Amino acid sequence: MFRVFSLCMLIFLASVSGADDSADKSSPVEMEASVSAYFEKIKKDPISLRHFLYRFPKGGDLHNHLDGSIYAESYLRWAAEDGRCIDMSTFSISTSPCDENAGNVPVSSIFSNEQIYQGAVDAMSVRNIEFGSISGHDQFFSTFRKFSKAIPGREGEMLAEVANRAARQNTHYLELIVVFGIFEASSLRHGVSHQYTDDDLKTLVDGKEIDEIAGQVISLTDRAEAKMRDILQCQTKSPKPGCSVEIRYLPAMIRVFPRTALISQAAIAFSLVARDSRYVGVNLVAPEDSRIALQDYDWQMQLLQDMANQFSTPIPRTLHAGELDLGLVPPEALKDHISKAVHKAGARRIGHGVSVGFEHDYPVLLETMKNQGILVEINLTSNEIILGVQGKRHPFLSYLNAGVPMSLSTDDEGVSRIDLTHEYQKAVETYNISYATLKSLSRNALEYSFLPGESLFTEPRHFQRVEACKQMESRVCKKFISPSEKARLQRQLEERFLRFEQSLAF
Ligand SMILES: [Zn+2]
Repeated sequence: MFRVFSLCMLIFLASVSGADDSADKSSPVEMEASVSAYFEKIKKDPISLRHFLYRFPKGGDLHNHLDGSIYAESYLRWAAEDGRCIDMSTFSISTSPCDENAGNVPVSSIFSNEQIYQGAVDAMSVRNIEFGSISGHDQFFSTFRKFSKAIPGREGEMLAEVANRAARQNTHYLELIVVFGIFEASSLRHGVSHQYTDDDLKTLVDGKEIDEIAGQVISLTDRAEAKMRDILQCQTKSPKPGCSVEIRYLPAMIRVFPRTALISQAAIAFSLVARDSRYVGVNLVAPEDSRIALQDYDWQMQLLQDMANQFSTPIPRTLHAGELDLGLVPPEALKDHISKAVHKAGARRIGHGVSVGFEHDYPVLLETMKNQGILVEINLTSNEIILGVQGKRHPFLSYLNAGVPMSLSTDDEGVSRIDLTHEYQKAVETYNISYATLKSLSRNALEYSFLPGESLFTEPRHFQRVEACKQMESRVCKKFISPSEKARLQRQLEERFLRFEQSLAF
């Protein structure tokens, strides 16, 4: 401990004397080594580890469904305030008027009965699932339709909840998967068949209906963000922690919909990214093992590539792929989903990637993902609940050992009753990863984010800073960072690492 203290004192003295990080280049490196040694000492103690990881700077959460990130208690509170109803047999929330004779009562009425209220929380999450008779898979996916009617008008509150939770865990960047406008798009009668041509897609994308829905989604986003800032008191002298979080959006397409609806969803999702810089990439979501998702997989991958070709600017894609396991689907469905997401649909990131070991070209695929820098968004708790895949059966170490970039994410922290710190702790406790790996997982969340601009690093695997930023405080570095949203957040993360490592000794 004395060694950590003395190194920190050096850094502290350097900082108060106004010196930059070039004054004593060895000090940050040696201090990292000391913190690494401290981390090795506490990593077997769950309480100390949680405390350490809660404060540990995390680059971001790249796989985070906004609706599934809200805790049931919030949905129930909003639904009660908004006069919504709840079905007493399924605990599904619905709009008023309530039909009490049919067991559809005001949500507010269940607050006085603790047992019923707690039953509703269980039904809208995977809490206490071990005492039920339904599979993790089915319970997890059933929750979304139970709370979906509590969402309209509460998008600002939802953003405030996830932003505050992230900031408190030293996480300052979120790419939120959202379904804004998706259901309006799904009901469009556009007349484009599943045997579309490029002209059909172009006409649809340029048409009035898509333009109108995209405009509505952008207005909704404006209102939600304004409400969030209001709730978080961002314009006051005592802003809440969430004000410091940068939020970007990934519009979702829902893979269990019929082909005509998916065409509209894709048109909206891609158009939003082209029109509004807060929308940074598209995502394909929902159970990959559903009948339509399996049947249409190839067609859906082709649609994503064809839709991307309608736009003059690149539209980044991150796709749920390989969220599967043997038994859940026939073996034939396991052999190429990740490969096709990469090669056919042009995915820059993969969500889950659990079934990678079943892919027919497994070693080649890992090599490709490593060489092309295709990151896997790892969701350990979600994979354990939905697929029953955990520990050595999870490909976490396969990806790590192959040099495939990874980041840790929550998937649906409200449904799973977790937070991002929990996922870092799970990775440490399950795979005994080092402090250096921990930092890489954190940095990857910004390096492989869809933020525009050049990276602070020349070679992401080793995180060597670009020549201009060898000295972070230099004018040339500031000039480099200024036009790059990505480099700006990366620089802030490096500063947070420094402060975190200093704080361990003081
Ligand atoms: Zn997901």
